[in-house]
Amino acid sequence: MAREWESVIGLEIHCQLDTKTKVWCGCSSDYDNSPENTHTCPICLGHPGALPKLNKKVLDYAIKAGFALNCDINKESKFDRKNYFYPDTPKNYQITQFDHPYAEGGHIDIKLSNGDDKRIGVTRIHIEEDAGKSIHAGEESFINFNRASMPLIEIVSEPDMRNSEEAYRYLNLVKDALKYTKISDVSMELGSLRCDANISVMQKGAKEFGTRVEVKNLNSFKGVARAIDYEISRQIEEIENGGEINQETRLWDEESQVTRVMRSKEEAMDYRFFPEPDLVRIVITDEQLERLEGEMPESKIAKIARFVTDYKISENDAETLSNSIELADYFEKTVASSNNSKLSCNWILTEVLRVLKDNNKTIEEFSINSEELGEIIKLIDKGAISSKIAKKLFEIKLNDERSPIKIVEDEKMAQVADTSEIEKMVVEVVANNPKLVEDYKVADEGRKPRVIKGLMGQVMKASKGKANPKMVMDILTEKLS
Ligand SMILES: [Zn+2]
Repeated sequence: MAREWESVIGLEIHCQLDTKTKVWCGCSSDYDNSPENTHTCPICLGHPGALPKLNKKVLDYAIKAGFALNCDINKESKFDRKNYFYPDTPKNYQITQFDHPYAEGGHIDIKLSNGDDKRIGVTRIHIEEDAGKSIHAGEESFINFNRASMPLIEIVSEPDMRNSEEAYRYLNLVKDALKYTKISDVSMELGSLRCDANISVMQKGAKEFGTRVEVKNLNSFKGVARAIDYEISRQIEEIENGGEINQETRLWDEESQVTRVMRSKEEAMDYRFFPEPDLVRIVITDEQLERLEGEMPESKIAKIARFVTDYKISENDAETLSNSIELADYFEKTVASSNNSKLSCNWILTEVLRVLKDNNKTIEEFSINSEELGEIIKLIDKGAISSKIAKKLFEIKLNDERSPIKIVEDEKMAQVADTSEIEKMVVEVVANNPKLVEDYKVADEGRKPRVIKGLMGQVMKASKGKANPKMVMDILTEKLS
């Protein structure tokens, strides 16, 4: 009988903090848009005698990340040196936090596809510095130290995940939570969010975890999920074929969709940690915690729940609107102006998002502000324009400075709600369509609505879409009876 397997997954997420300067020195953090090795100084190059000093913003941002991931913030923590030889780390050690990180004991609640909730623990978050970048060109290698000593936080999860779906959802929620705090642009493509996965398999119900393999080089959300799936099957197959899992570090090869050995345990680096003597202990005061807590935004999860309750929209819609704080704000302001949450939600999710997507723009760059969109929706709501005309108005407004009401006036777009005018059009359509009228009269109750819709379409066409549809229907029904 085939054995049943269970997998155990833990994630280490590195997030680059969006500060103006590096973590220990005044070098600009705009490292990627500058010529190689221009954002360097004796401190980030690790010259002897150069003294690092913690950037205050880094600590503020890191604490916000701790709050966002429900961690306990340690009032005192310290920095350590992790010693190893690595060509793109000029000091031959990395400043990080070893046994006393600044944040511990957090969690994120994920929702599974079967509807269940699951809590994934966050073991710790610590502050550390980034390495430089090696560039290999043919026979030669070069190093760019612009990224050296860029501020990072490393978020270490508990081994609580059991499959790639759970890991994918956890990673997404961590990203959302961090993005809301605006401490980082959390882009996996740009490398400001990076993820390593620790994966092992064991027989179902076993007490002890199997040998774990670390997979690096995961630079997309889908890549993380695929690498985990691949690694789980590889490990099970290896064991079932009588082999053993080696404790090793593997790289995810996106092109061939496989993991490959990077270094085995024998070559594994024996890190030696010791306290960093050049940096003072981190001391966090109550005032600092209070100030930062006051700056924390409403979380995405809380926002979605509030939108569903307050605005009576679906959870799915609330989630899409909460994809960015700015879009959520735009929605709330539109509702404040339109007084119609459902219509505002529909217009933003269809028309607004479509235009943004087509033009590759964000809501902050959108040419119609929330008050103007609210005005358009109010015009529909009170029957001044039809939704068809509203779409036309929306298109004009995209490149027009005039207010929606002014455009409606100038372009004579207002709905015709004058009984005598509509009656005139109805009489004309009835006279010009004797066949349809006859058809209506002989049709059974089931078919009548369809025939009358055809006639109604003719009236709407005659009014260029401006006739009030309800009035057209009422008058038409009356004339045909
Ligand atoms: Zn520097």
